[in-house]
Amino acid sequence: MYARSALESIRLFHDELTALRRDLHAHPELGFEEVRTSGIVAGQLEALGIEVHRGIGKTGVVGVIRGRGTSSGRMIGLRADMDALPMAEDNDFSHKSTKPGLMHGCGHDGHTAILVGAARYLAKTRNFDGTAVLIFQPAEEGRGGAKAMIDDGLFDTYPCDAIYALHNWPGLRPGTVGVNPGPMMAAADRFEITIQGRGGHGAHPYQTIDPVTVAGHLITALQTIVSRNVNPLDSAVLSIGSLQAGHPGAMSVIPREARMVGTVRTFRKSVQEMVETRMRELATAISQAFGATAEVNYERIYPATLNTPQHAVLVADIATEMVGKENVVRDLTPSMGSEDFSFMLQQRPGAYFRLGQGGAESGCVLHNSHFDFNDAVIPLGSAMFAALAERGMPLAE
Ligand SMILES: [Zn+2]
Ligand SMILES: [Zn+2]
Repeated sequence: MYARSALESIRLFHDELTALRRDLHAHPELGFEEVRTSGIVAGQLEALGIEVHRGIGKTGVVGVIRGRGTSSGRMIGLRADMDALPMAEDNDFSHKSTKPGLMHGCGHDGHTAILVGAARYLAKTRNFDGTAVLIFQPAEEGRGGAKAMIDDGLFDTYPCDAIYALHNWPGLRPGTVGVNPGPMMAAADRFEITIQGRGGHGAHPYQTIDPVTVAGHLITALQTIVSRNVNPLDSAVLSIGSLQAGHPGAMSVIPREARMVGTVRTFRKSVQEMVETRMRELATAISQAFGATAEVNYERIYPATLNTPQHAVLVADIATEMVGKENVVRDLTPSMGSEDFSFMLQQRPGAYFRLGQGGAESGCVLHNSHFDFNDAVIPLGSAMFAALAERGMPLAE
């Protein structure tokens, strides 16, 4: 079938893509520091005769491939992330990280190799009418590289009609594709609440305003936002990841302040706003009730990743042609994790999908120190990207 021929063609250079992926794995770089990685990507694209633009979003790289026809004026964007994580690798194979404390623990090495594979196929065949824009993005892991590229004019220069990205997914079998015609990943917010009381002697608490007691009441109350304020048919998570007050060596010192830091995950903007409002109300009112004061710092880190239904359906249709309907999940359950492709999806329609990778059953999950991208799935990822460009910009018969 049509979509399968891309897969067959890309399989012919699977070994080279695997070698590239392993080389990137051995040389991980943090967000906005992908100097070597972006250099290799740019070099490979240039060797394929692809027009390359660098420095969009610091270490970002954009490749531009014009099809056999360009009269449609269409433009499809395909995005891969390139950054690694600040974590130590516990693998032992020959392509393990050569940099202590740095690791491709999320498989972005695989995503980069996949997009290079798609580029190689598209540059050779050019079976489309329009422009394919290859977006190699820096700094997906918490540093907002997608936003940096947008702020540098990515979509002003390349006003894509649709954009696509994928992420490997250990919870899906290799050879499968998962997508959802709506939410894929949650919005990720960070909050920090500082409660100011009045310190003093633990034996004389009546002379103090104890911020630890206030924090205890507030923690319990914050959990009622999800259980009592969020509509049960909507989703929200509120987790406190850090709580600090006083000193473990000072049993009889009531500290002056207590601080908690946590995250809120939501899909709908209205729910996100409500959680923030309720958090501020509870922190202020509960602190006030005990004579303390609270300061709430609430930051919106990544928005929710929301697919446009028609583009998610196209992903599922192409995947069905490529791997059969038994290997395609069209209504994948969204994850409460987050993804900065969401910034791009706020600008242009498109879809983010998951590429089955396997390994979850043996603990080889994302951000685990034993993780390694499954090279077997590279051609399918490349072929999905290639077919999305061809299908989104068909040549006239
Ligand atoms: Zn990650
Ligand atoms: Zn990732």
